[in-house]
Amino acid sequence: MTVFPSPDSLATTPTLAVLGFKRQLVYHLHFWAFIAVAPLILVQWRQDHLLLSSFLILFCVNALLVIAFLRYRNTYFLRGRLFPLLAAISAVYSTAINGHVGLYWSYPAAAAVFFLLPLREAIASNIIFVATMSAVSFFKFPEPDFWRITFSLGLTCLFAMIFAWLVGRLQGELTRLATTDPLTGCLNRSQLADILNSQIQMRERYERVSSLILLDLDFFKAINDQWGHLAGDKVLKEMTNRIRKRLRESDQLFRIGGEEFMIVLPETRQKDADTLADQLLTSISSRPFLNNIKLTASASVAEVSQGETWSVWLNRADHALYEAKSRGRNQVVNAMKPRTISNQGPIADPAAG
Ligand code: GH3
Ligand code: MG
Ligand code: MG
Repeated sequence: MTVFPSPDSLATTPTLAVLGFKRQLVYHLHFWAFIAVAPLILVQWRQDHLLLSSFLILFCVNALLVIAFLRYRNTYFLRGRLFPLLAAISAVYSTAINGHVGLYWSYPAAAAVFFLLPLREAIASNIIFVATMSAVSFFKFPEPDFWRITFSLGLTCLFAMIFAWLVGRLQGELTRLATTDPLTGCLNRSQLADILNSQIQMRERYERVSSLILLDLDFFKAINDQWGHLAGDKVLKEMTNRIRKRLRESDQLFRIGGEEFMIVLPETRQKDADTLADQLLTSISSRPFLNNIKLTASASVAEVSQGETWSVWLNRADHALYEAKSRGRNQVVNAMKPRTISNQGPIADPAAG
C-alpha cells in the first residue's frame, strides 16, 4: 500500500503537494462513483440480476474501503486496482445482459482508469476493456451500432489518456521547477529535510552510513565586485558542472545558499567523503573559471551519527565549515562527532533560515 501525506502536510514540499493532488483525485473518484453506483445495486437486484448486483456491491465496498483507508490510515487500499477491474467487469457484464443500459457506464469507467492507474497499465487495461466491449457490442447490437460504440469508446479513452499524460507531465515539470535552482539546476532546500531524513533512516534501520559535504566558495563577494554579477553567475554554473562530473548517480547536489552547496553521499563513510571533498576543492582551485577567474572553496565533511536528527547532522557540518573558513579557507575540515559539540549552545534548525 502506498502511504500518502496527511492533508495538513500537503504544502510542506512540492513532492507532498503532488501526492496530495493524487490523493484528492482518488478520493473524489471513489466517492462520486459510490454515490452513482450504490442505487443501481437495488435496481439490478429487483430485476433479478443477482450476479451484477454482487459485482456492484463489491465495487461499492471497495470504494468505501478506499475512502476509509485514505481518510483514517493515509494509505491507498490495494493501490486502486479494484476500481478499474470491478468497473470494467460490471460494465461488460451489464452490457451483455442489459444492452444500452449497461453500455452507458463503460464511458466513465474507461476514463476513470487513466486517473487511477499508472499510464502504461491504464493503456493496457483499456485496450483489453475496449476490445471486450467491442466484442460484446458485436453480438448484442446491430453492426452500425457496433462501429459507433467501438469508435466512441476508443475516442473517450484517447482523450482521457492525452489529458492524464499531460497532467502527469505538468506535475513532473512543476515539481522540477519547485525543487531545483534555476541558475545551476541543483536541488534547492525544499527537499533537504526529506533527503537527509531518508539517509538517517538508512543508518538507523540498515546500518548504511551516509555522509554529507558542505562547500562554500571563498571570497565570492570579491569575484562579483571585480568581475560583475553576471560573471559570478557563470562561475557558479561552471563550478556546479565541475562538481557534477565527480559525483556518482546516487549522490545529490543541493544549492543551499548563494555560493554554498551541499552534497549528500549515500553509503559513503567519512574517510571516502573526505577524499572526495579534497578532489572537489582541487577541481575548483586547479583551473581558473571563465579562463581567468581564480577561485578556491572551503568544505566540511560529516558522516551521519546514530540517533541524530537531520538538523543536528547539518549543524555539525556547518560548524566544521566555519572552522575551515577560520583556519584560512581552501581546505576540508571533518566535523566532530555529536558528543563533543554538545556543549556549544543551542542548535538552530538550518532550514529555518
Ligand atoms: P567567505 O569566504 O567567507 O565565504 O566569503 P564570501 O564573500 O564568499 O561570503 P559572503 O557570504 O560574504 O558573500 C557571498 C557572496 O555570494 C555575496 C553575493 O554577492 C554572492 N552571491 C550569492 N548568490 C549569488 C548569485 O546567485 N549570483 C552571484 N553572482 N553571486 C551571488
Ligand atoms: Mg563564500
Ligand atoms: Mg556563504
